[in-house]
Amino acid sequence: MTAPTPPPTDSRRGSERGGPDDASPPDGPPSGSGGPPDPSSIETSRRPFVLVWEVTQACDLACDHCRADAQPARHPDELTTDEGKRLLDQARSFGPGQLVVLSGGDPLARPDLRELVEYGTEQGLRMTLTPSGTASLTPSVVGDLESAGIERLALSLDGASAESHDEFRGESGSFEQTVEAAQAAREADLPLQINTTVCAATVDELPDIRELVADLGAVLWSVFFLVPVGRGRVLDPVSPARAEEVMAWLSAVSERAPFGVKTTEAPHYRRVAVQRTRDASEAPDADGIGRRLGITAGDGFAFVSHTGELYPSGFLPESAGNVREASLTERYRESDLFESLRDPDRLRGKCGACEFKHICGGSRSRAYAHTGDPLSSDPLCAYVPDGYHGPMPAGRAD
Ligand code: SF4
Repeated sequence: MTAPTPPPTDSRRGSERGGPDDASPPDGPPSGSGGPPDPSSIETSRRPFVLVWEVTQACDLACDHCRADAQPARHPDELTTDEGKRLLDQARSFGPGQLVVLSGGDPLARPDLRELVEYGTEQGLRMTLTPSGTASLTPSVVGDLESAGIERLALSLDGASAESHDEFRGESGSFEQTVEAAQAAREADLPLQINTTVCAATVDELPDIRELVADLGAVLWSVFFLVPVGRGRVLDPVSPARAEEVMAWLSAVSERAPFGVKTTEAPHYRRVAVQRTRDASEAPDADGIGRRLGITAGDGFAFVSHTGELYPSGFLPESAGNVREASLTERYRESDLFESLRDPDRLRGKCGACEFKHICGGSRSRAYAHTGDPLSSDPLCAYVPDGYHGPMPAGRAD
């Protein structure tokens, strides 16, 4: 079971850093053969840069941090194959080359996974996958999915050794199976992304995981800062001060590593990067992989649950409607929830007062998890704007 992490923007056989791809009008007519859009040209009020579909919550693992509270069996009200194809049709209507992440649970729990990947690819979507590291993820399955059209495989590593990873994932053998799948992806010339959860239990292993990410030939390391939802409520997050150190370290890693680095649910990484340069004008205009700045829940990112609910992210389970009845594009563009999340001037408290709110804005999911208000402040951030004397965010750990 993996976090719904935005995958990279590069083309199927893109460069390691995945620079901008062929420019395409972000809201042009649907095209079965259109290339991926230029990420910097996407108007995120019109379309998500990343659309995640949680195809199932079924999974054989029992990870400590699982957002989905994954279950052994598939939910009887999951979107069917035909409903899933209609969802992919709607995704196509966002514009050419829409990026779709098939997430879970474990997507491999669905017997129609290959059919869905092929269908999405035929529609001109860029299909990527976040399977769980289980015995089902064999090299032949990886090769089969690659031939069906998967453009990127994202695997989770939350420890640098079998002992620590398997303990976190709740299943012995997961580390070995994940490494084998990563090697299979490399042999199939399938770009690999590694996802890692940052919390008190994993933070000390990040330097060793970084080495492993390089050894496995990954093109991107996606570092997810824990949001306390699902089973993740039982884990301890890192403190804001520790998060600050980790982000500064990641920023330094990104300058030297043979892979891209991005954070998930930690947009203050962008603020940290700006502060490291001491001058906003020297800050990178993308996060090292060609992704435009500012993709956050509901603003360049959308999540469809296994039963069809449209959420701003998998960690912000506030529904803007169900894709069985509502238009995905209309709800994304015009629902009050999504519109409010795209307006930094509606943020409250410390984030609302912050001069970095247009490049950061804080994790709306973490704010929601702590307060039930997605526009409140992110308690993981250590930064206090000059002259701010208002209340500090609920749930702040230091
Ligand atoms: S206070 Fe909020 S907007 Fe400012 S850097 Fe921190 S999380 Fe980002």
